[in-house]
Amino acid sequence: MLKSFARHQIGICDLCGLPYTHGIARWCLSCAESLFDTAIHCSQCGLPLGEPAQQCGECLNTPPNWQHLVCLGDYQAPLSHYIAQLKYQGQFPVAKDLAQLLMMAIKRTQVDEVWPEALISVPMHWRRRWRRGYNHSDLLAQSLSKQLVIPYMPKALVKNRMTPTQQGQNRLQRQSNLRGTFTFGTLPSNIRHVAIVDDVVTTGSTILEITHLLHEHGVKLVDVYCLCRTSAGQM
Ligand SMILES: [Zn+2]
Ligand SMILES: [Zn+2]
Repeated sequence: MLKSFARHQIGICDLCGLPYTHGIARWCLSCAESLFDTAIHCSQCGLPLGEPAQQCGECLNTPPNWQHLVCLGDYQAPLSHYIAQLKYQGQFPVAKDLAQLLMMAIKRTQVDEVWPEALISVPMHWRRRWRRGYNHSDLLAQSLSKQLVIPYMPKALVKNRMTPTQQGQNRLQRQSNLRGTFTFGTLPSNIRHVAIVDDVVTTGSTILEITHLLHEHGVKLVDVYCLCRTSAGQM
């Protein structure tokens, strides 16, 4: 599957430790392949499906407010290990490599060739960003923007207040935490279709809140590009 994306390069694979001559970013072809989930995912919410279908029953009955979600897979090793490197250990080059994998997943699913006009990322409160020194979603979106050749609009949204960590909370708790957290920033008024870039989507509450805000400001279609999609119980 990845052969068409492989570049001729000489390196030592970051996962298996073997030398390779054709690989993707820091991985040999077969290790890069192992970072993609083989399960079939619902095209709208991104959760794994039990049987081949376009959407899950839940999305058919009560669809979320966004259109499509593309992910590499579930939040599990070895992918989770690279996300932790990016998020907590300041290993910035990982963003470019993970964005390259995500770009492949997006190109595979983008059958109708309806591309978003802009990418945006999930903003971080300035105080948290200042403490950490960077926003990992911002780094991911910057790299993805270069690879997909779609402009990145880093000022589209602003996070007004710090929210307690969302880990271990259910969807309702998360939604009430998030109410009024984001405000609309700067986005050209003619933009109708955007994709939100994030590392891990769990309950989808943040994406629902952001999509709602984007709809209020004239954006018609919202897609989600994330590294991992996982259900709340697994985080
Ligand atoms: Zn390898
Ligand atoms: Zn679904």
